[in-house]
Amino acid sequence: MNREPSKHTMQRELEFPQYPYRPLPREAGAEEECGLFGIYGNADAATHTALGLHSLQHRGQDSAGIVAYDGEQFHSHRALGLVGDNFGSPDIMDRLEGNVAIGHVRYSTSGESVLRNVQPLFAEFKFGGLAVAHNGNLTNAHTLRHELVQRGCIFQSTSDSENIIHLVAISEYGQVVDKLTDALDQIEGAYSLVAMTQKKLIGLRDPYGVRPLVLGRLSNSHILTSETCALDIIGAEFVRDVEPGEIVVIDDKGLHSLKPFRKRPERFCIFEYIYFARPDSVMEGKNVYAVRKAIGAALARESYIDADLVVPVPDSGVPAAIGYAAQAGLPFEFGIVRNHYVGRTFIEPTDQIRHLGVRLKHNANAAHLSGKRVVLVDDSIVRGTTSIKIVEMLRTAGASEVHMRISSPPNTHSCFYGIDTPKRQELLAAQMDVSGMAKHIGVDSLSFISIDGLYQAVCGASRDGDTPQYCDACLSGEYPIPLTDREHEPAPTLLTLLDESN
Ligand code: SF4
Repeated sequence: MNREPSKHTMQRELEFPQYPYRPLPREAGAEEECGLFGIYGNADAATHTALGLHSLQHRGQDSAGIVAYDGEQFHSHRALGLVGDNFGSPDIMDRLEGNVAIGHVRYSTSGESVLRNVQPLFAEFKFGGLAVAHNGNLTNAHTLRHELVQRGCIFQSTSDSENIIHLVAISEYGQVVDKLTDALDQIEGAYSLVAMTQKKLIGLRDPYGVRPLVLGRLSNSHILTSETCALDIIGAEFVRDVEPGEIVVIDDKGLHSLKPFRKRPERFCIFEYIYFARPDSVMEGKNVYAVRKAIGAALARESYIDADLVVPVPDSGVPAAIGYAAQAGLPFEFGIVRNHYVGRTFIEPTDQIRHLGVRLKHNANAAHLSGKRVVLVDDSIVRGTTSIKIVEMLRTAGASEVHMRISSPPNTHSCFYGIDTPKRQELLAAQMDVSGMAKHIGVDSLSFISIDGLYQAVCGASRDGDTPQYCDACLSGEYPIPLTDREHEPAPTLLTLLDESN
C-alpha cells in the first residue's frame, strides 16, 4: 500500500482515469434524489459501502463517491457515472482502506453535474478531517451562501451541501457534533446526512423527517443508509428508522442519540411510497410494495371502469397495477415491456431519431393488446410527454380503448425538498383540469387517486387538513418548510418571463 507519509488526516483522492461520462437519458418527469450509505467498524467498509450504493442506484445515477478512513488517512474516490462503472475495479477498492466509510449516489437536484460537486464532500479542520454526504435540498442555501461569501468563505463547488462544511468551519463550538448541530441549526430544508470524522460516524435527519434514513447492524458494525434495500444486499439487519430531528453518533463507545433541534411536525415525503423508494424497501415501518398495491386497490375502488385488462407502465406502475387488477377483478398483463439496458452504453439519440423517444425504453406487447380495452396504470403525470407516447404506442398496437389511472393525485406544484421536478408552469396538472389532460394525452378516460384515498392507503387515515401526516406539497401546494431562497428571489423581469414562455 503506497501511503502519503505526511499529514495525519490528509485525504488522498485516488487518481484513476474518469469513466468517459455521458448522462443517462432521462424521462421527462420527476427524477430521484440521492442515496446515502455509511458503515462503522467493518474491515471491508468500502466494499460494503459500494454494494450498498449499488442497491441505491435508483436514487441517483449522475455520480458516486466513497470516502474511507483507515486510522491514519482518509481515502476517497468520487466520479461521475454509475456505481458499477466506478467501483468495480479491485484496484480502486483495495485502496479505499479502512473500517469506516461513507458513500453517496447523486442525482443533481441542485448544482451542476460536475466532479467538484460529487459527494461525499471532504474538508480538513482544526479537529481533523470531515466527510459529508447529503440527501435533500436546503431551502435557504442561496441566502446562506451569499452571507458566507460576504464573510470570506471560498466555495469550491456549486452544490448547496457545501454550506454545511463552511458553517462547521466557522462554528465556535468545540466538539465536532456540536459544530455540526450549530451548522444545521442555521439550515432550512429537507435533508438526511451521513458524515464521518477520524473517530465517528454521524447520521441525522431534518426536524420534519422529509427524507429517509435508517439504522442497521451487521454483527458489530453499525450502518446508516437511505433505504433498507441497502441493508439487505450486505445481509445486515434493520434496527430502526433514524427519527426526525435525531442525530445518531457512532464511535468506539457505541451508539448515542441526540435530539438537539426544536421539535417540528413530522412530514415524511409521501412520494417515497408512490414512486421514489425501491419496492422492496421498508419505510417508516411500511413495505413500499405493499403500500403501492394498496394505493392501486384504492384507485380501483374510486375509479373502476369495465375493461379487458390492466397494464402497468413499467417499472414504477407495476405494484399499483397489480393492486388495481386484483381489486377490479381484471386480468393483469405486461402490455408494455421495458428495456432495462438503456443506459450510458447506448447511443444517445440524435435529433433525427429523437422522435422515437420513449421507444428506446418501452415497447408495446402487441399480441396482448389487439382489440382490448386497456386500463393503463402509472404512478404520476408530470409534463405528460411520456404518457402521450405510451398511449399512442398502445393504440398503434391495436388497443380499442385506453383508460388511464394514476396512483397519485395530480402533480400541481414543484418540489423544493430534493426531488427534481420541473417548474410549475411545465407541470401538465398546473395548466389544465383532468378532462383537459385526458384530451391532451389522448385517452378515453383519465382518473387520479384522491388525496384522501392516497392517505388511507398509506396510513389508514384521511389527510388531516390542519397537520397533514406527510409532506404532499407537490400535490397540495402546502409547503411545510419555508422556501426562503424563493422568497428572496428577485421578481422575474419581462425578459425572463418571455424566455420562460418560449
Ligand atoms: Fe416529496 Fe412532493 Fe414533498 Fe417533494 S414536495 S418532498 S416530492 S411530497
